[in-house]
Amino acid sequence: VKKNPAEPEFHQAVKEVLESLRVVVEANEEQFRRDALLERMVEPERQLKFRVPWVDDNGQVQVNTGYRVQFNSAIGPYKGGLRLHPSVNLGIIKFLGFEQIFKNSLTGLPIGGGKGGADFDPKGKSDREVMAFCQSFMTELCKYIGADTDVPAGDIGTGAREIGYMYGQYKRIRGLSEGVLTGKGLSYGGSLARTEATGYGLLYLTEEMLKLNGQDIKGKTVAVSGSGNVAIYATQKAQQMGAKVVTVSDSNGWVYDAEGIDVEALKEIKEIKRERLTEYKKYRPNAEYHEGRGVWSVKVDIALPCATQNELLLEDAKTLVANGCIAVAEGANMPTTLEATEYLQANGVLFAPGKAANAGGVATSALEMSQNSERLSWTFEEVDSRLQRIMVDICHNMADAAERYGFKGNYVVGANIAGFEKVVDAMNAQGIV
Ligand code: NDP
Repeated sequence: VKKNPAEPEFHQAVKEVLESLRVVVEANEEQFRRDALLERMVEPERQLKFRVPWVDDNGQVQVNTGYRVQFNSAIGPYKGGLRLHPSVNLGIIKFLGFEQIFKNSLTGLPIGGGKGGADFDPKGKSDREVMAFCQSFMTELCKYIGADTDVPAGDIGTGAREIGYMYGQYKRIRGLSEGVLTGKGLSYGGSLARTEATGYGLLYLTEEMLKLNGQDIKGKTVAVSGSGNVAIYATQKAQQMGAKVVTVSDSNGWVYDAEGIDVEALKEIKEIKRERLTEYKKYRPNAEYHEGRGVWSVKVDIALPCATQNELLLEDAKTLVANGCIAVAEGANMPTTLEATEYLQANGVLFAPGKAANAGGVATSALEMSQNSERLSWTFEEVDSRLQRIMVDICHNMADAAERYGFKGNYVVGANIAGFEKVVDAMNAQGIV
């Protein structure tokens, strides 16, 4: 805290991981101390902060701050998304980059951890303004990334449009047609099923976690928060599995649709028209729209937070438990506060942490990298079936690691340990670097 003041999200993420690792560290205390393994783990290999000037539609110059934190490359090139949101600062990018190390390790694929972004708000900007920002952002970032060094992807505020503009600028400056970004459009090297991957993966893992505990997802009622990329495809897959999703939200309000969220309407509002959820009632007159937050007040069996960090608080956890919720799986990164997580676990709610539950996005990004390297495209079914296998494996690995260390059923501890073991092994093998 003294070394990195004013980075509360980063401290929160580190605290959760280090607490989980206590048993592992205690078993090898001397080596951990001598080799400063944890000290090296929490210090990024490199962090970049840079100016992003661009001209808005009124001819006014705007200045944003860009970031890329290259956290850990022990098991492969840095990999992690770019967040475009006004709340972005170094502490948030560091928390996301730190989480990404263990998440990427859990996928079983050779990718290190990194994250980036800028305090730019794409909302309400014209396409030309978004392009101007993305080109300026990439003009600086392109000096530090590459298909074999650091491969950014999308995150909040960065979708296919933004990735396209960034990719175009990278190619123009560096002259390389390579898989330097993932989440690309299908016409220039993107992977089928990448758009759906995080939400679908969340449901594959949730289904497996329920199975391990003698439950079935079919027939369950589900609350989803958010209405972006993760939320939309989580809703779609949950419904394909026979569950009923009754809520979605954005930063202004939330929708309750007792008959089940209409995914096609949601996609049209968010992906095509880029409008707010207030529009939803036009498609489904019987649905309710409420200002403010409230998704977790609805009686559901399963909660899937898919919006942003710290959106499920202790009071929400209490309501979910009182309403008989049996499982929470994090589609977003760190959406549940530490106190809320502890409360849910203490009350017997199955809890899948984001670094395991939302790893399907980055796993499919790594599959996009493989396709780019061999200059081939796989079918949707091929990518989707690999994604399914990866998520089922992650579920078993986190459950097994928890059990091995005497924390049966504690998937937070299990995911942290399972992700950590491979990274620490690779760091040890590569010496003091
Ligand atoms: P999108 O930008 O597509 O959607 C984000 C959603 O969350 C929107 O509904 C947005 O509402 C809402 N939201 C964002 N910030 C806030 C806030 N401060 N308060 C309330 N609501 C907010 O992002 P994604 O769906 O891609 O990402 C959602 C989460 O999933 C993030 O935590 C991200 O890091 C994580 N994630 C994403 C992956 C991916 O592949 N996309 C992979 C792994 C994790 P509004 O429109 O009002 O801003």
